[in-house]
Amino acid sequence: MAKSQSQPVVAALLRLRPGKERSLLRRHPWLYPGAISDEGIKLIERLPSGHPIAVCDAKGQFLAWACGSPRSSIRLRAWSFQEKEPPDAALIAKRVSQAFARRRAILEQSNARRMVFAEADGLPGLIVDLYDEQAVVQILSAGADYFRAAIVDAIKAQGIDAIYERSDAAGAQREGLNAGQAVLHGAEPAPLISIHEHGLRFFVDVRQGHKTGFYIDQRDNRALIADLIKAMDAPRVLNCFCYTGGFSLAAWAAGAAEVISVDSSESALEHARKQQSLNNLQDRQGRWWEANVFEALAGLQREGERFDLIVLDPPKFAPSSQHVDRAARAYKEINLKALTLLRPGGYLLSFSCSGAISLDLFQKILAGAVIDAGVDAQLLRRLAAGVDHPMSMVHPEGEYLKGLLLQRV
Ligand code: SAH
Repeated sequence: MAKSQSQPVVAALLRLRPGKERSLLRRHPWLYPGAISDEGIKLIERLPSGHPIAVCDAKGQFLAWACGSPRSSIRLRAWSFQEKEPPDAALIAKRVSQAFARRRAILEQSNARRMVFAEADGLPGLIVDLYDEQAVVQILSAGADYFRAAIVDAIKAQGIDAIYERSDAAGAQREGLNAGQAVLHGAEPAPLISIHEHGLRFFVDVRQGHKTGFYIDQRDNRALIADLIKAMDAPRVLNCFCYTGGFSLAAWAAGAAEVISVDSSESALEHARKQQSLNNLQDRQGRWWEANVFEALAGLQREGERFDLIVLDPPKFAPSSQHVDRAARAYKEINLKALTLLRPGGYLLSFSCSGAISLDLFQKILAGAVIDAGVDAQLLRRLAAGVDHPMSMVHPEGEYLKGLLLQRV
């Protein structure tokens, strides 16, 4: 691999087509091929994947420094809007350091935190999650891949001695990257890393767990459930798509009388059981139920079961905008069923992590479910990922997790 990130950046320059400078002027970091001159497209092909390029408008006025992604429909990602600040090791070290500093305040709640969140932190395609002392990175853009040595150095400079890569993600494939899992620095990660969150312990498998090992993004929502449950009288809880049981453990610890947790993955449920014991919650009433949620909800409906709080946190039903219609039907179906299982006064926490489904659309889908279920419900709160998953104000595409807290009237 002839990666030249430690070398001075070779001056490469391209022009956009006339009138296509508008999004960069608004500091939106993505450019599609239609915005780029033919010579520019060829230059991106010729340069090493991810190489920095000065992007100018059709008249030659500097707009941004971007890195080329020759295999992706997002052909350029802007890393800097300052001509004197091209992406290089120094800029990456500065951005990583600033992103880490911004997360300091969350440490009290948990030692599992997203320290770098890609475009929102000025580091397109780079994710750095920290599980106690173990950093887990995802390198999901050609530019981040081009600068991978500088990225590792920048993380090390934050006092991190163990860095593991989990780039086995759809985003990396869309960029034509084929990196998978590897130790980038320090020792092999422990099989299970113990982390704490709002007084609970979780055991994270950074090699095989989803994403980088854990749904860090649901931290605030697990805490919200705990608050709701503490204010109820021994509620009965249903946690659908429970994975390793994050919401279930939060519910038991807060005083739920019974928690029924549904997931189709046997290994996720096995891990969940282990976490239940490790938190000394093994005596709590409930059940880890290996089932398809669609069928489980229908079965519970037939049996006339009722719950005081239901969580729906499904996988991404819409991986892209082409899947929105089908996904909308699936979201509606599970929400409709869940609403009929709620006691009056009961809560529904319903999530979508599909970037292609806006909060507005999600709310409309749930409104449809409320109408078709023939129930009344109030929207109490809109939910999102925690503050360690910020969204850039000029790049709303970065927002993926959205949720609604409804209460049945
Ligand atoms: N709520 C979890 C994360 C959910 S991830 C948490 O907070 O940690 C989505 C989960 O849905 C995965 O564990 C996956 O195994 C499960 N899943 C996907 N499709 C399913 C289906 N049709 N029925 C049941 N579980 C499903």
